[in-house]
Amino acid sequence: MPRLFSPVRSVADRAADGKQADDLQRRLAGQLTGVAITFVDHSGAGRIKVVPLEALARAARTGVGFSPVIDAFTSDGGIDPASPLDRPDGDLRMVPDLEQLVVLRDPAGWAWAPGDRFTQDGAVYPNCQRSFARRQVAAAQRAGLSALMAFEIEWMVGRDADDFVPAFGGTGYGVSRFVAAADYTRDVVDSLTAAGVAVEQIHPEYGPAQFEVSVAAEDPVSAADTCVLAKLVISAVSARHGLRASFSPAVLTDNVGNGGHLHVSFWQDGGNLLAGGAGRHGLTSQGESILAALLASLPALLAIGAPTPASYLRLQPSRWAGAYQVWGLENREAALRLIAPPGTSTSNANVEIKCFDLSANPYLVTGAVMALALAGAGHPASLPAEVSGDPAAPGHPLADSAVRLPASLADTVEALERSEELRDALGAELLGSYTAARRAAITLAAGQHDEQVIADARWLI
Ligand code: GLU
Ligand code: MG
Repeated sequence: MPRLFSPVRSVADRAADGKQADDLQRRLAGQLTGVAITFVDHSGAGRIKVVPLEALARAARTGVGFSPVIDAFTSDGGIDPASPLDRPDGDLRMVPDLEQLVVLRDPAGWAWAPGDRFTQDGAVYPNCQRSFARRQVAAAQRAGLSALMAFEIEWMVGRDADDFVPAFGGTGYGVSRFVAAADYTRDVVDSLTAAGVAVEQIHPEYGPAQFEVSVAAEDPVSAADTCVLAKLVISAVSARHGLRASFSPAVLTDNVGNGGHLHVSFWQDGGNLLAGGAGRHGLTSQGESILAALLASLPALLAIGAPTPASYLRLQPSRWAGAYQVWGLENREAALRLIAPPGTSTSNANVEIKCFDLSANPYLVTGAVMALALAGAGHPASLPAEVSGDPAAPGHPLADSAVRLPASLADTVEALERSEELRDALGAELLGSYTAARRAAITLAAGQHDEQVIADARWLI
């Protein structure tokens, strides 16, 4: 069963965390140097403060300082002067979530925990992305709705250079690439497993030196945590091998990119809403209403799930990126790929949202999907006709009518601002600071060639 999340963490939780941290300090003494505490900012970059093990209990009780300006950082490491958060004053407290703390094998000598951010007087910080996800999960839980989620992690492995030089040959899905990279992928699997990530599969993907890891589904906040942790571990293993991992949506021009597909199943009263019903492919009426809401909201969701200018270089037809606003059973060109073929056990049926990529803040993604699912569950709606095949293929019956998802970040940010459900869920402050950050990314990319847009996004972790 998914872990239950409280919508906020209180001061009482922190006292308990402090005691737990005292125990952890004693138990781990001599085994590691310190704990890396992370959150993900509005540009999708993982941000970090590191405390020595001896300082963990204090960090758990009072948090570690972090300037609010961090969410005004742009993907190139600069600061957006137009952001409401570009101020030198003020401070926040980032508190490690000790429930999720894991000892790492890569990088060795460290542990990791995700952080939640609070104001100095102990209130939840309105721009805290992880707290946003917690709130949406808790709101759905109050209505009896829960979800299991998992991000698929795709990345390309380059040599240690700024440009992308594929580190391995061999073909997509090929034994040839498996053999060429077997030492590397063994370390990836071992280090992910050591960090508590439930790896279900790893394979050479279609792109140059590209790999994919699938992991077990979890509650939405944990799924976002796992995404952050997996990217950190894969980057560390790559560095140990003298290589670099690119999770960027676009790594090379005119080629497939890296997706960050989100697999989701929705649950009520112990049953999977995407299976066992009387609708198409076993959808329940509530499951169908939720999928209809997600499908209709994809343009707005993309501002969160595909949030960089490079995202739109990836989101092209015929690359299995899900560039069409359609759904279909097992259709890899559909933005919503229903995975419920005959014979699938009811607990395994899920929908894969394919149009997302890993430049997204995974907490905003899981929170936004949960918010839309909750809104959709309350409004009966039907899905349109399902689509099979690639609408871009010559002679496809929908060649002229299938709707492409927006082709630019500017369009999706506008769609986000128009979405009543997402506006309500995010709240004015978080929506305002987030859209300011997206507009800074648009400004930064204005007039740039695709090569430069890709170069700016290539090594973001
Ligand atoms: N690399 C593709 C993408 O950009 C996905 C390939 C697949 O279906 O796994 O999303
Ligand atoms: Mg893949």
